Amino acid sequence: MPRSIPSGYNLQFYDSYVDNLIAKSSSGNFITIKKESTGGPRWTLECASNETLSTISYSINLTKHEQGILNIGDASKIRLNRYIGILGYSIFGYLEPMDKVENFPVMLIVQSLLEWPIHLTLSPSNQQIYGTASGIAKNYYHLADSQIYMGPNMNFTYISISYDKLFPCSSLHQTLIEQNQTQISLSFYVIIYTEDTKNFDIDMVIKLSVQAMKNLLLYNNIIPFSFYTVAMEMIKPLDDKHTGGFSIEHLNSCTINVIYGTIINKNSTDNQIKTFQYNIAHHIQHAWLPKRLFSIFYYPFTFELTPVIDTIWFNEGFGQYIAMDAMANALPLNESYEYRQYFIENRFKYYFNLAPLFIKQMPLPYLSMIASSLYSSDFRTGSNLYARGALMAKDMDELIQSKTLKQKSLRDGIIYMVKWSESNSYIIPFTMEQFPEFFMNATNVDVSLVLEKWLQLTHI
Ligand SMILES: [Zn+2]
Repeated sequence: MPRSIPSGYNLQFYDSYVDNLIAKSSSGNFITIKKESTGGPRWTLECASNETLSTISYSINLTKHEQGILNIGDASKIRLNRYIGILGYSIFGYLEPMDKVENFPVMLIVQSLLEWPIHLTLSPSNQQIYGTASGIAKNYYHLADSQIYMGPNMNFTYISISYDKLFPCSSLHQTLIEQNQTQISLSFYVIIYTEDTKNFDIDMVIKLSVQAMKNLLLYNNIIPFSFYTVAMEMIKPLDDKHTGGFSIEHLNSCTINVIYGTIINKNSTDNQIKTFQYNIAHHIQHAWLPKRLFSIFYYPFTFELTPVIDTIWFNEGFGQYIAMDAMANALPLNESYEYRQYFIENRFKYYFNLAPLFIKQMPLPYLSMIASSLYSSDFRTGSNLYARGALMAKDMDELIQSKTLKQKSLRDGIIYMVKWSESNSYIIPFTMEQFPEFFMNATNVDVSLVLEKWLQLTHI
């Protein structure tokens, strides 16, 4: 079973909630199962030489699971007669070495009560499906990276985002040819479960999500998926030990965990709405970076232990800056400037300055390694890490724009990198040696001094 999630940056003992683990042979005999004695989340099957493994089954008590996992965003949820929201990593185990095999198709079949609607982010349907749903994942990672939502209190919305309306005719044609796309629209889904329907305007949230996705499609100009789900949960914490507010990105979806009590309706201030939408945009943006553009140790992923990654400043810092850039680019010039300044001051510089001195003195790759398992649980590490990464991205953007008289920007480098990753089927990590080369190739600007400055910066 996994104990770590790509982009989770922490450790969760999902294996603790596995019960009734049973293996049977093709002749129906039970196969002996032993849990590893040294505390790992793995079991060994002792299959006789004349027997063939046929089935493995286990159950997970989601009530116990949710009670035991204190970070709300990392847990699956169950609400009697209302809702089930399942995070794939938290329930799907694997047989070694299928976690490391790129092409290992896995079929998922989900059954619920007959009258319950189901939404699979793995294979979403434009119509509501009831009772049974299924899909095929390319491999274990794609299966575990998906989510399952169901229940009468699940709010389901399907919207087709048409490319010919989004892109001007000339560039649309070029974009589609480059990507071998036959589709002319993105199937976009918004799944919402809220325990505060009064203060949470679902229609407004859907509009904010659609606009965020459109802005990111325009920004990236590369569409590596044909369907995408924004799933949003506003859950009342089970007790004061449970905390929310941390969202997670996936290949074809994001799970937005909204802090209970957040008010998003016509009475919200502009800044509240702007910040709320920015968080959605940031997590949609992650479908490009780091889900499909990443450095070493992000993929292939070590599910059993939290891997130490020294480039989270890129995943999160550049990820935040790009979300801001994409949202700002869609605004009229004066509003665009204000939008940027708001996030640079209140989100990047603010958290850059807020951290205690000992964190500020950590070199960026070292802080990234520390935050690999503490990002959200000790957000002093996570916030300072993304703030520094975003300010590095800002410095690079300003350098590129000034050297090219605004003909190029950071965006050109990012698009170049995503195209490079696309040419490698989105499965090869880039190296730090390649990083400045990508920007040089894309913009003819040398960003290596900015990179070195931020990587070596130890004193504020
Ligand atoms: Zn993020």
